Amino acid sequence: MAKHIMVTGGVASSLGKGITAASLGRLLKARGLRVTMQKLDPYVNVDPGTMNPFQHGEVFVTQDGGETDLDLGHYERFIDENLPRSASVSTGQIYSTVIAKERAGDYMGQTVQVVPHIINEIKARILALGENHDVVISEVGGTVGDIEGLPFLEAIRQIRYDVGRENICYVHCALVPFIGPTKELKTKPAQHSIRELRSIGIQPDAVVLRADRPISTELKRKIAMLSDVDIDGVASAHDVPSIYAIPQVIRDEGLDTYVMKKLGLDETIEPDMGEWNAMVQRQATQTGSVTIGLVGKYVELHDAYLSVQEALIHAGIHHGIDVNIDWVQAEELVDPAFADTRLKDLDGILVPGGFGLRGVEGKIQAGRVARTTGIPYLGICLGLQSAVIEYARNVVGLTEAHSSEFDPDTPDAVIDLMDSQRDVNDLGGTMRLGVYPCKIAEGTVAYKAYGEPFVYERHRHRYEVSNHYRTQLAEAGLIFSGLSPDERLVEMVEVKDHLFYVATQAHPEFMSRPNRPHPLFASFVAAAKTYRDGGHVTTTATAKAKRAKTKVN
Ligand code: GLN
Repeated sequence: MAKHIMVTGGVASSLGKGITAASLGRLLKARGLRVTMQKLDPYVNVDPGTMNPFQHGEVFVTQDGGETDLDLGHYERFIDENLPRSASVSTGQIYSTVIAKERAGDYMGQTVQVVPHIINEIKARILALGENHDVVISEVGGTVGDIEGLPFLEAIRQIRYDVGRENICYVHCALVPFIGPTKELKTKPAQHSIRELRSIGIQPDAVVLRADRPISTELKRKIAMLSDVDIDGVASAHDVPSIYAIPQVIRDEGLDTYVMKKLGLDETIEPDMGEWNAMVQRQATQTGSVTIGLVGKYVELHDAYLSVQEALIHAGIHHGIDVNIDWVQAEELVDPAFADTRLKDLDGILVPGGFGLRGVEGKIQAGRVARTTGIPYLGICLGLQSAVIEYARNVVGLTEAHSSEFDPDTPDAVIDLMDSQRDVNDLGGTMRLGVYPCKIAEGTVAYKAYGEPFVYERHRHRYEVSNHYRTQLAEAGLIFSGLSPDERLVEMVEVKDHLFYVATQAHPEFMSRPNRPHPLFASFVAAAKTYRDGGHVTTTATAKAKRAKTKVN
């Protein structure tokens, strides 16, 4: 039977609870255990697929097409496992299932209630993940005390009776703020959150204190005594320069050993963190930097592009170079002259996925600047579509070319709704989602990057390159470097005689891991470095000037 670790949060959200849980997961995996993770989100949406990124950050897509919370991205990157959509549970899913069962008569005339029916459904989801795993880590979203989180907390409390006290460990993660004027770390809010947790019947076995600086043994003792937690179970998780260094913080605090002991697991087995630590070490000793312009519409909220950022970081670690992100508001690039000046000093331009008209013209400009100056370009999903629109308008000469998503009346819908999407009216979970195969043409930049002719990538889109325009675009020089195996869908395009101008309909960022960067990101960052150093041939004036400038320096 699997052991369960339940992670709750206190005081504030966004305090790195997911990363703490994932770090613990990594350490347990490094001890040879089969670990899986799950996020329990109290919101009523069935999944975050329909939520505004301003409210919820990015939507993380799983292999099997689940549109999930961004914490699943952390889990995958840390425990290095592809998680199923069932690893993301929301109140909306729980209620939909229970209501569907009620309509089907499954409850045999009973009155359907929060206790026990909703609670039982939550417990069933948690227990189901236990199959084929030694340890299941379940993180409850939000903070203790939220009204909507109560059924989840009740479920993780009750589950102790299903799995046995010795097979469950409760870890509470709370913020310890530093008060500037008095220069003190304050534990009172954390104490209150632990009290709140205890008042609903959950006594934490371990407490992780998140602070911007290390927490003294004295403060840890105080928490231990006032909250009835073993002193060994109180860990300080202070800020470190990289999230990938958190497993080491947890290890230094002995939290993994403590949790294993609590769960009756053999804690004497040393974790094998060699490869991971080498990666963290490489990151700490990076030299030099490249600057990538990330052209998006939610640039004020970096979480909206979390996996893209992380994938760039992974590529940087691989090449031993810092990757700085210059957040470029797409809407500001509408004026071509402004786009030229705004982007000219970048070492790479990345246009990520997106929906809706706002910012699209700016993204099209970004594609033009990259194509004509030689600045490396990586287009992701909408970043492929905007690149194709740009090529159609400015190279093929179809000046009104567009995507029918943004201009339903365009005479040249070079990007159009996929046939499979024509009769779909529901917005939730109805896109082309999850992993699909792609054939890569030999001799292309994409082929060089991947080093293989056939790859699988995760998708999340409704529109595609229209097959009516494929011949015209190809004759004008656009290379279709990736196609679906039946050749009906364009998966990747590139511009010829360019150091790196690659765009993909997929979302490669979701597959990147800190110790195994995604090939497209790795090649893109390598190209940015080459471009920075002036090491490529192009005839445009801007690139020449840039080369000259680099030489002088
Ligand atoms: N809005 C575009 C589509 O639906 C692109 C989606 C994306 O970038 N993820 O096809």
